[in-house]
Amino acid sequence: MDINAYLRDHIRTVPDWPAPGVQFRDITPLLQNPRVFRVLIDQFVHRYMAPELRPDVVAGIDARGFILGSVIAYELNVGFVPIRKKGKLPYATVEESYELEYGSATVEIHTDAVQHGHRVLLIDDLIATGGTMMAGKRLLEKLGAEVIEGAAIVDLPELGGSHALRATGLPLFTLVDYA
Ligand code: 5GP
Repeated sequence: MDINAYLRDHIRTVPDWPAPGVQFRDITPLLQNPRVFRVLIDQFVHRYMAPELRPDVVAGIDARGFILGSVIAYELNVGFVPIRKKGKLPYATVEESYELEYGSATVEIHTDAVQHGHRVLLIDDLIATGGTMMAGKRLLEKLGAEVIEGAAIVDLPELGGSHALRATGLPLFTLVDYA
């Protein structure tokens, strides 16, 4: 099966959302169809079952990274930790800010979410400029964890994010590219 084409058929492109000129890649149809959802999740689970890639923890990025990451963690029989937008986590946190096209954003993680030396799989639904995943990686590293790989359903390589992330030494695994 051509996974890229199969999954791409179930990603909806919404023009001019959330702003004029943006082609938003909407992954909700992938989740809605039970057969497609299983195929999608199994791509990640099979990869990260392998002993050399098996993480100690899965970290998911707010909000679609939660949907994917929690199911993957459950299947791998490891814990799941959320990386959230600022102001949502109740306990002590560390934070990282990053630049957006207009302004900046801040993400946080609980200080006890991972242990020093933990091997972490970092997951989100999509890599655009890479800023979000880079901030997630820095947060985990602040806590002494090692991000073994970043994973997402979609990469938008033309925006340069995946290239920049790989340039920091972070391996990436993505399933669908939009050139
Ligand atoms: P980046 O930080 O790489 O520029 O943007 C990636 C983040 O923004 C991810 O958390 C992702 O959920 C969200 N995002 C940006 N553009 C899109 C898009 O077209 N589709 C989806 N599903 N998420 C997007």
